[in-house]
Amino acid sequence: MLILQQILFVAALAATAWVLTRRIGLIRRAIQLGRPENRTDRPNERLNIMLRVAFGQKKMMTNVTVGLMHFVIYVGFIIVNIEVLEIALDGIFGTHRLFAPFTGAVYPFLINTFEILALGVWIVCAVFLIRRFVTKVPRFQPERHREMTRWPRTDAALILTFEILLMTAFLTWNASDSVLRERGVGHYNELKGVGNFVISQFLMPLFANWSDTALVVCERFMWWFHILGILFFAVYLTYSKHLHIVLAFPNTYFSDLKPKGEIKNMPEITKEVQLALGIMQADPNETPVEPGRFGARDVRDLTWKNLMDAYSCTECGRCTAACPANITGKKLSPRKIMMDTRDRLEDIQQGWQQNGPDYDDGKTLLGDYITAEEINACTTCQACVQECPVNINPLEIILQLRRYKIMEEAQAPASWNAMFSNVENNMAPWKFSPGDRFNWADQVNK
Ligand code: SF4
Ligand code: SF4
Repeated sequence: MLILQQILFVAALAATAWVLTRRIGLIRRAIQLGRPENRTDRPNERLNIMLRVAFGQKKMMTNVTVGLMHFVIYVGFIIVNIEVLEIALDGIFGTHRLFAPFTGAVYPFLINTFEILALGVWIVCAVFLIRRFVTKVPRFQPERHREMTRWPRTDAALILTFEILLMTAFLTWNASDSVLRERGVGHYNELKGVGNFVISQFLMPLFANWSDTALVVCERFMWWFHILGILFFAVYLTYSKHLHIVLAFPNTYFSDLKPKGEIKNMPEITKEVQLALGIMQADPNETPVEPGRFGARDVRDLTWKNLMDAYSCTECGRCTAACPANITGKKLSPRKIMMDTRDRLEDIQQGWQQNGPDYDDGKTLLGDYITAEEINACTTCQACVQECPVNINPLEIILQLRRYKIMEEAQAPASWNAMFSNVENNMAPWKFSPGDRFNWADQVNK
């Protein structure tokens, strides 16, 4: 029986590793579709940002209560899962609480810490579920935000419920195990000295009338549920917005270090303008290079960092809640821009899997996922960039799509075209000749 459990356990581990490797490979390939961009300069500054924003959750702390709750769920979940190391080794070697005999008082201390954190995670997940579905925090509601369709809401509910179930299984497993030790049943008797644990001891009375056999079944079931649940969770993450648990770290490390508000120039255009104004002289030996596409029409025209941003988005909606265009009822939602970019990447991946790596579904990010009306509503205020807790930059994608629409398709709103021709002719957005620029001064000191 024990050997069968070991075989099943190793098979579950191997299957998870196989699926995970495939999923990670696909996501990596999807991100690599993007154009190259160097984000490896100033490594110390980058490390510092990652430690503050991803580890320290600095931007979450603008709302201290929510920030602290998020911190509990994040730290708690990660630390509680350290216990998985022992569970995995027990599963492979057919042992029970492998570390307990060698670690003395450290063992109960660790399990007690895990239990306190597990309870914290349990409570915070319940509060988050209530915030989403009972008190209805506006930024999660589909009535106001059309991107919050059935799947993002189900995804959030599934993960929170799943974490509650995992923590419940962990505490119930410890409680049933403690009762078995107390009763001195079979091999459980060998660990009698470990004692009871700080939270699960309150669940032990629930098992008072259970037979030894029923208790062993419960202990085994909770053990299996806990570990299989974690393996399933690891795979599910790669399909979910919760991938940010992992990607928040590289994504913040590769943050944009430019000052906010500095918009990336297009080198080909800058050069043309400088040549036209005589600021730069043409190199007679230079072979003319055909300029590539201006702006972005699809994900392949964006940078790899834009695409990593899309996979790192937590769908929290803080960007959308701060977006003046969205607040004033325009169609634009920066959260939707990130979700659409990710959906596009996922659709491309699906195409690869079903029809081979060269498959082209004929769709494009601009047009099939994001409309001109959305991108034209952006004021480039950078509020979304400022608010994002994992340093995502939706504005970069919006600007690239807008550049394509205007420079490749010559489709800008009429009022913008007037502004463009003013800039071209008057070197200012207004309809005044440069010669009249100081007319206002004529009225001064008269
Ligand atoms: S930069 Fe654009 S998308 Fe971002 S908050 Fe401002 S208006 Fe909204
Ligand atoms: S872009 Fe950032 S702020 Fe906006 S939904 Fe995604 S994670 Fe949240």
